[in-house]
Amino acid sequence: MKLQYLIIMLASTFLLGNTRSAAQLTNTLPKNEFGLTIIDNGIDFGASTAQDSLKQMVAIDNYIVHLATDFVYATTKNFTHQKLYSKPKAYLRLAAAKALLAVANYLEIRGLGILIYDAYRPYSVTKTMWQIVPDDRYAANPAKGSGHNRGIAVDLTLYDLQTGLPLPMPTAFDDFTEKAHHNYMQLDSVVLTNRQLLRTAMEQQGFKALDTEWWHYYLPNATYFELLDIDFKQMKRLAK
Ligand SMILES: [Zn+2]
Repeated sequence: MKLQYLIIMLASTFLLGNTRSAAQLTNTLPKNEFGLTIIDNGIDFGASTAQDSLKQMVAIDNYIVHLATDFVYATTKNFTHQKLYSKPKAYLRLAAAKALLAVANYLEIRGLGILIYDAYRPYSVTKTMWQIVPDDRYAANPAKGSGHNRGIAVDLTLYDLQTGLPLPMPTAFDDFTEKAHHNYMQLDSVVLTNRQLLRTAMEQQGFKALDTEWWHYYLPNATYFELLDIDFKQMKRLAK
């Protein structure tokens, strides 16, 4: 009995200790002009990931074979007409990367691969996008931040593994017309099938769809993952 009691005491001290450090981290970090807590350095990021390994950031091309990328934000061919990224890489939290790996496996046996337009996006880029286009129909409001800043949102499409070509979808990426909405049905049957296949593949692994952007998917428990403002150069060192 005594030993059992001791074990319970030790276990609760350990658990309580962890809970305290989690709360301490959130409370000690400064808040920005919108009252948001942003992790912008390796030390705070390390403290956060130490609490839960699913918060680790991973380069998803290490995880997913045949992953293709097309970082339009690293070019001027995006809705802001400015180059927003330097040397980007597709990073996601481990929780999202694991789910996306299962998506990739489901698609691979159907002869398809994943083409990423955007994954993790540093918070300061969200601020820049908003300065250029301050309209929440097109850009995430920095007063809230984006799932991309939390490393749990991904913009993607499908491509044919044999030809390497993207599958026909309702619109190009970042087309902010009604045609990009999931409920837009006046489309070719092949396009409807492709959009639905991507949605099915993502939803069965726990991702949620966004009504207005067929390419955007996110994990539902977004706020559990802190907003990050760590650039790609530093993320390369911090990611697993
Ligand atoms: Zn997105």
